[in-house]
Amino acid sequence: MRVILKDQTADELAARLAGTGVKPALARRLQAAAVARDRWLEPGPGISDRVLAEVRRVADLPRLTVLDRVESPVDGFVRYLLRGAGPDPFEAVRIPLLHRPGEPKYVACVSSQVGCGMGCAFCRTGRLGFRRQLATWEMVDQVVRIAADSPHPVRGVVFMGMGEPFLNYESVIRAARVLAEPCGMAIAAKAITISTVGVVPGIRRFTAEGHSFRLVVSLTSAVPERRRVLLPVEGTWPTSELIAALREYQAASRQRVTLAWTMIAGVNTGVDEARQLATLVRGIPVKLDLIDVNDPAGRFRPPGPAELAAFRDALRSELGQPVARRYSGGADIGAACGLLAGAARAPASPAAPEDRPPC
Ligand code: SF4
Repeated sequence: MRVILKDQTADELAARLAGTGVKPALARRLQAAAVARDRWLEPGPGISDRVLAEVRRVADLPRLTVLDRVESPVDGFVRYLLRGAGPDPFEAVRIPLLHRPGEPKYVACVSSQVGCGMGCAFCRTGRLGFRRQLATWEMVDQVVRIAADSPHPVRGVVFMGMGEPFLNYESVIRAARVLAEPCGMAIAAKAITISTVGVVPGIRRFTAEGHSFRLVVSLTSAVPERRRVLLPVEGTWPTSELIAALREYQAASRQRVTLAWTMIAGVNTGVDEARQLATLVRGIPVKLDLIDVNDPAGRFRPPGPAELAAFRDALRSELGQPVARRYSGGADIGAACGLLAGAARAPASPAAPEDRPPC
């Protein structure tokens, strides 16, 4: 099997390329060239031409094709339509952090699957269904492509694009490790966030493996019957099991658990939700991120100012833990949370199914 340079950490590269004469130090340089500079290592002092030629014989440095790039005139978010090893396109988003204290920088929001089989009621990606798993290099290269297109560095990565990361667990964790390699992209582990809608075996494995990447869990309702309608994952891994897994994660990691809550007017912003949430997470330090639902079709609306204020008041008195409202940008270019549906908007591809749902 050929060795894909962007698929491997430096240690893995050293092991895979040992037969070509590559030593660990050279593996780190190969990794840095491939991931941080998107090119083959050039010959130079201390680098044998023969070994480099041998590496080129057994290894590949594939790149994603950028099919489209759209920048929001409203908030500067950029949506990229990409094609990798398969016919169906997928998307990544560049999130600008240009006006905060410190250096101007970006966060890359990457996809882990093409489409998604989780079927969350308010998500356009979910309507596509599951198409395929993305390979590690296809996730790493989303960040490489964004970095190559950016005047400021990419300092953070969120696995919150298309797909459920914990249903592509090994490739996602490997991508996060490659992106964190100090000789490559050097993204701090704490600046890499993996989001799940509640795949309990993935959370338990993540806990057992002791990763220092950040975890975000989409809860969205604390009332199981309501959550089941919004997030069908509830039928497979119910809230009670999810909370038990989060309790274990918090005990092992000592991290406050970040819960994401997609707010839908008249559905999950009542006092009942605040009370039920407080009961569920009693004894677990959590942080709640409130995100407005995005639904251009108009079936779901975000709460208005009065409803939002009442929900925040209820959370303050019932939950008594940190609550933040998160801005979900790029809505005008289809780049906001829940709007990624690249396969449905891409140029027709011969191998693509013809019965894609409208978005
Ligand atoms: S919200 Fe996430 S998990 Fe749910 S359908 Fe969309 S992409 Fe999949």
